[in-house]
Amino acid sequence: MARVYLDWNATAPLRPQARAAMIAACELRGNPSSVHAEGRAARALIERARAEVAALVGAEARRVIFTSGATEANTLALTPRIELGSDRRPRDLLLVSAIEHPSVRCGGRFPPGGLEEIPVTARGAVDLAALESRLAALSRAGSRVLVSIMLANNESGVVQPIQNAAEMIHAAGGLLHVDAVQAAGRIPCAMDALGADLLSLSSHKLGGPKGAGALIVRTEAVHLADPLIRGGGQERGSRAGTEAVAALAGFGAAAAAARGALAEEHRQVSLLRDRFESELRRVSPDAVVFGADAERLPNTTLFAVPGVKADTAVIALDLEGVAVSSGAACSSGKVQPSHVLAAMGFGPALAKSAIRVSLGHSTTESDVDRGIAAWKKVYKTLHKGSEGIAA
Ligand code: PMP
Repeated sequence: MARVYLDWNATAPLRPQARAAMIAACELRGNPSSVHAEGRAARALIERARAEVAALVGAEARRVIFTSGATEANTLALTPRIELGSDRRPRDLLLVSAIEHPSVRCGGRFPPGGLEEIPVTARGAVDLAALESRLAALSRAGSRVLVSIMLANNESGVVQPIQNAAEMIHAAGGLLHVDAVQAAGRIPCAMDALGADLLSLSSHKLGGPKGAGALIVRTEAVHLADPLIRGGGQERGSRAGTEAVAALAGFGAAAAAARGALAEEHRQVSLLRDRFESELRRVSPDAVVFGADAERLPNTTLFAVPGVKADTAVIALDLEGVAVSSGAACSSGKVQPSHVLAAMGFGPALAKSAIRVSLGHSTTESDVDRGIAAWKKVYKTLHKGSEGIAA
């Protein structure tokens, strides 16, 4: 029987448009930096991809810096040496929300003492009051901050109040980096509307290949004076190395497909997610859905049943043919409970029971139903007080 893939936040299956663009790109032989016809053909593919990725976030194509993925994009962005117009003084401090991806939480290229966390509320959104008071204190002290807040959390799916945060940050003279990896292609991500000065994307979360991503800067005034990879001057000096032509062509095609289908995919996926959650509650009335009262991505359910260990449940579901994850894929294999749930105030016992189900545009009603049927079996087996299960 075909497997059911419900782990789209870990990575999305390749979109057919991305596959076709990559296969076509593999036929090209030129280096995009070469001036001859072969080189120009490769360059044309990259520039097309750049325009497609830029369009997804309403940016100008020349503001897109291609990278090997969002981990690199985040690391490139999070440096004290971000210049703003003629202001070349380094940033003193990096503020990150307590629920960021590890590639942000580790602080990029800020020294260990130059990193601070901003708490989140119990609903899983960054605490704007805490952010505002910290920014006010720092601005009084003359500190120049860079702030990094994700648009949507990879574990809970909770959408962050980026516009409000951006206003506060800019009023305090700060700059805002937004990790939009999980939001892109699922909800609108226009950089201007968000107020993001820098924004990271990952190709493989929106149906492109793994190993490609982008850091996008909002205006020409924002300049990264400290590239991570120096050498041949590609990407306008911001990221050296011969470009991964096929991967970038696939990234561009995925971005274009995601943008074209955004409204329809949002509608379809949220209906399936609602179906999943109502069945989940029927089958396991003691399930807790994290962030249920908050604005969430249309595709994500993070839930726990007290007493049912997520690691065991994930393996049992896998044996039933269903792929889900316990917390974030990046941290699976490690025993520590999720930092996201800890930041939301949940204890380690419940956090160790957290299972993430995430859907995507090719998920079907039958996938959801098979996922639920498998969960019902697993729940019956693993749940100590299983007498209470509804039929
Ligand atoms: N940020 C978020 C929110 C993510 O979910 C991920 C992927 N787990 C990344 C960054 C890293 O992206 P990549 O896999 O492209 O390095």
